[in-house]
Amino acid sequence: MNECAKNFMREATVDSASSPYRGRFAPTPSGALHFGSLVGALGSYLDARAHRGTWLIRIEDADTKRSHASHIDAILKSLEAHGLCSDLPVRRQSHHRGDYEAALERLRTWLYPCHCSRKTWQHGAAIGALGPIYPGHCRHRPETNLAPGGYAIRLRLPDTELRFHDRLRGACRYPLASRIGDPVLRRRDGDIAYALAVVIDDAKQGITHVVRGADLLAATAIQIVLQRLLDLATPDYLHLPLVLTAEKRKLSKQNHAPALNDAAAAGNLIAALAFLGQTTDGPRETDSPIQILESAVKS
Ligand code: GLU
Ligand code: ZN
Repeated sequence: MNECAKNFMREATVDSASSPYRGRFAPTPSGALHFGSLVGALGSYLDARAHRGTWLIRIEDADTKRSHASHIDAILKSLEAHGLCSDLPVRRQSHHRGDYEAALERLRTWLYPCHCSRKTWQHGAAIGALGPIYPGHCRHRPETNLAPGGYAIRLRLPDTELRFHDRLRGACRYPLASRIGDPVLRRRDGDIAYALAVVIDDAKQGITHVVRGADLLAATAIQIVLQRLLDLATPDYLHLPLVLTAEKRKLSKQNHAPALNDAAAAGNLIAALAFLGQTTDGPRETDSPIQILESAVKS
């Protein structure tokens, strides 16, 4: 029996008095997992276990240009090598396109087609919390055709300040018009944008707690707007500090973060626990990943 199957069997018995907590780790299969991804996965896993909750893995492959099947296998293998296994079958965004299209249909009155090319609108645009702020050229166009085809679909964001509570950071506020701007929900190439897919997936999977990296803090504002427009529950959010490179940039696939070495899983887990501020007196590199995770949940 592989590590994931063992883990699944154990949880199925131990967790008979399970809580309504449901967390998830949702990697985009655009490359191998790196140390920053492990910190995110471990942070959400430990929070779920500490609440006697359920922990899920979801593959965010709605972006078909950046996603590759080979990375999906590598990511799941790497998580398994680190003892991190989904309690329920892994959801893949590319299998649920109909859910996202149905949500677009429900959002219809808040949407508009945007024909601008990135090159034209980004020139001179103000920089907001998520990059250049779309200046709204197409916001008042009369067309209502939202069929896929050569243009993007944007959400007309209400001009308010969105406030939410982050479990680590406390009160967060985002004036939507001046800091974010109307986001794309379906791209010009027909792919569903992360902002919409993540909201639908979190709702479909009954996610109650989201623990992820602080690079997605501002994206949470858009996600909460979408939850409200679609009448969906808002999960509890916690955004973890980011692992940075020596040049103080986020460790990421774009800046060539090295892939996790699965053969050194115990050492990787101990380093990730230390990053998360967990004392490392207990686990040793000679322990198995499962033993290290068990002792981390207890401490
Ligand atoms: N798929 C996103 C990423 O890899 C994470 C999405 C999320 O946790 O909400 O950065
Ligand atoms: Zn436009």
